[in-house]
Order: sequence, then C-alpha cells, then structure tokens
Amino acid sequence: QKCLSLIKKTKFLNAYITVSEEVALKQAEESEKRYKNGQSLGDLDGIPIAVKDNFSTSGIETTCASNMLKGYIPPYNATVVQKLLDQGALLMGKTNLDEFAMGSGSTDGVFGPVKNPWSYSKQYREKRKQNPHSKNEDSDWLITGGSSGGSAAAVSAFTCYAALGSDTGGSTRNPAAHCGLVGFKPSYGLVSRHGLIPLVNSMDVPGILTRCVDDAAIVLGALAGPDPRDSTTVHDPINKPFMLPSLADVSKLCIGIPKEYLVPELSSEVQSLWSKAADLFESEGAKVIEVSLPHTSYSIVCYHVLCTSEVASNMARFDGLQYGHRCDIDVSTEAMYAATRREGFNDVVRGRILSGNYFLLKENYENYFVKAQKVRRLIANDFVNVFNSGVDVLLTPTTLSEAVPYLEFIKEDNRTRSSQDDIFTQAVNMAGLPAVSIPVALSNQGLPIGLQFIGRAFCDQQLLTVAKWFE
Ligand code: GLN
Repeated sequence: QKCLSLIKKTKFLNAYITVSEEVALKQAEESEKRYKNGQSLGDLDGIPIAVKDNFSTSGIETTCASNMLKGYIPPYNATVVQKLLDQGALLMGKTNLDEFAMGSGSTDGVFGPVKNPWSYSKQYREKRKQNPHSKNEDSDWLITGGSSGGSAAAVSAFTCYAALGSDTGGSTRNPAAHCGLVGFKPSYGLVSRHGLIPLVNSMDVPGILTRCVDDAAIVLGALAGPDPRDSTTVHDPINKPFMLPSLADVSKLCIGIPKEYLVPELSSEVQSLWSKAADLFESEGAKVIEVSLPHTSYSIVCYHVLCTSEVASNMARFDGLQYGHRCDIDVSTEAMYAATRREGFNDVVRGRILSGNYFLLKENYENYFVKAQKVRRLIANDFVNVFNSGVDVLLTPTTLSEAVPYLEFIKEDNRTRSSQDDIFTQAVNMAGLPAVSIPVALSNQGLPIGLQFIGRAFCDQQLLTVAKWFE
C-alpha cells in the first residue's frame, strides 16, 4: 500500500508507464495468506518489484515506450517475470524507457522523459539556486540515464525494492549510477532472455536495479538458471542459495585498473573517486595494478555496427500484421508496411534500422558487419588476457560524470556525448561479462556517482562479493 501511494505521489517522475495496482494488491493478499497459514515462502514473497516495459507480461500491456506496441498485451510472461512471480514478488507495474531500449537518457520514449528523483533533493536544489545559469524550477531537472531510467527512478523513489532493467550496452548500470543505486548486469547466458523484447540478441541481458548489493544477489538467485526457451542460457546453474559473505577478505585480490578508461572527457570528480577506491583496496592489502585493454577505443563504433545490424533484423517483425500498431492505409501491403513503420517508430529506431540495413547490404557486409564481429572478438580477448594474467576484478568508472540536466542532455552535441557515455559499459556486453555499478559518493552538487566492477564470465558471485565489501 505504501509503495502504491508513493507511485501516485511521484507520478511527475514519469517512472511508470503502467501501474498494475490490482495485480499487486491481489498478490500481496495471497502472500499474506501464505505467511499467516505458515506456508513456505518464496525468496521474494511480498516484495514489491517493478519491471521495465520491454519484458513481456501476460495480460499487462507491454509497449517498449513505442507507438508500435501501444495496446499490445502479451499472452505470456517473460521467464524472468514468471520467476519473480513464482517466488512471490508483487508486480507493481511496467517502467518507462527509451523507445525499444535505444538510448542512454530515458528521454526518448513515446511517453516522455523520466525525471531523476535526485533533481528534487534539498542539497541539489540549494546548489542550483546559487547557480546563475539555472533555469526555472519546472524545466530544471536531471535525466536518470538510461535506457532503464524508469526502473531506476522507481527504486530510487522507494516505490519498489528492486526493478528489472535490460542491459545491452550499459542500460542498467548507467541509470543506476545516475540515481544512486546498485545496477547489476549478469554474465550473458546466466539469466534467460525469453520474453525480453530484443534489442541486440547477442548482447542483451536482463539487469537488476536495487538499493544494495545483497538485494541484487537475492534477485539474481531467483532469476538465474538455464531455460529451455533461451538456447543461450548456460546449463551449469549457479550455487544456490545465492548468498554473499558478510565479511569478505579482499587482501588476496588483484584489482585491475584499465589505463584506456582514463579518457579526457572523464570528470575530475569521478576520476578522483576512482583513484580513491583503488587506494582503499590497496590499503586493505589487495594488489592494484594498471592493465591494458588495447581495443577499447574501437568499442563505441564496433557496438554501433553490430547493434544497428541486429536492430535492422529484429525490427523486421514489426510489420503491422502481427503486433500492436497498424496504419489505415490499404492501397497495398507494401504501403501498409511502410506507413505503419513510419508511424510506429521514432527517428532513433528508424535511424538504426537504416544504418543496420546499410551495413548488411551485400557489398558492405564483409567490410562492416564481419569486420565488426572480428573487432568484437579482439575486444573480448582483451578482457580474457587481463583475467588470465591473474586479475580478479576490474575497477572502472560507470559514467563520465554525474547526471546532467535534461535541457543540456537534449542539445545536439550532447547526444553525441551520450553515446560516448557508454564507453565504460559497452565493451562488457560485447564480451558477455558480469559487471555491477555501485554508488560510491555524492558529488559537489549533491548527486550520486557510481563506480563499476567487471568480473570474469560466470564469476558473478565473486564480483558481487567484492562490490558488497566496497559498498
Ligand atoms: N545506449 C546504448 C544504446 O542505445 C545501450 C542501450 C541498452 O543497453 N539498452 O544502444
């Protein structure tokens, strides 16, 4: 009840596209009954959880924040949604995002941008008042980061205890950093993608947003494991129950600091927190060494070619016949397809379909798509080499800076910057590794800053243990 009333109070944040109040209340009632009758309880029994609106939810509208899917009601639950429900979680609603999860701001969905709850903190407001360039109150708010910004705002505003995001190039870790949360991207293959409407199948992973690392571990425990409906899931289930030790020993760890991540665009505050964090590990006896991931500078362009190529293919299913939107034009089937897709997709999605199809043209395929796949392998091998040399965990920034004001973010040149913002996160998706962003401190402006830990493939438990120690 309290979470539902907070959802109403914070409606102006635009965190939710759909609030599933009736469903949540019914589930709460059932959970209470189980508790009162002394029945065994699931790991998430009675816990309010929100789900990004690109996961299929049976009987609940699933839009991907796109005109194309407005009104689409899936007939089945994504595996991760079903697992949440099986463990007794309460489904609070579906959260806002960039259309089809394409973006890093949560500003590009058809339901409008998500506002960062930290925009309204007392400390930030006071700082802004002292700033002569600050715009009027109404338009002076910060982005959440994205594309899982609705999920981040929902957890950060206390409307739920955890939320599912998706992470293809950083979409869970980026908004977590901007909203002061833990944002966890599991190893590719550990958690089923069945029912997660695809952006880039070879990189998509369901992500978890929580307020502390332990909560993320509990949710991961509920979600991880092989799924016959997703052939890319691994067959070795992780150790359960998925508990983290309360006092980890980090003195035997080797922490790698990738030198290529010290980019000129990195804010001095983030840089100084990053080096303080390294010092902390060192003072506990851990070995902290500089390492090299030499192909880092190719990561943004490589991701772009691979992402748009998979997008071009994935989006072909939205033809006006099978799902959601269909336009009125009936002169020919082709004209109907074209008009439906023109009306249904925003310019970001259409732009990616166009570039992807360009890279996939017969004459370009070898030069772009195949080359990008080779570069992806080099990027993944950089990580393998570093881990093979004895490094246990990498420590990096998550984003270039704290969250920026919306009006600044939507300026043309900042769009370019926003794709640069993924510099610390995208390579991890191309390599399929687990990574977690955790909040470390507040900036001078009073805004949260996150740092990222990256682990070996399928060493998710070790990664979260280190993150918990640092938290
Ligand atoms: N910002 C990246 C993109 O737009 C990543 C998005 C994501 O992880 N879903 O492709």
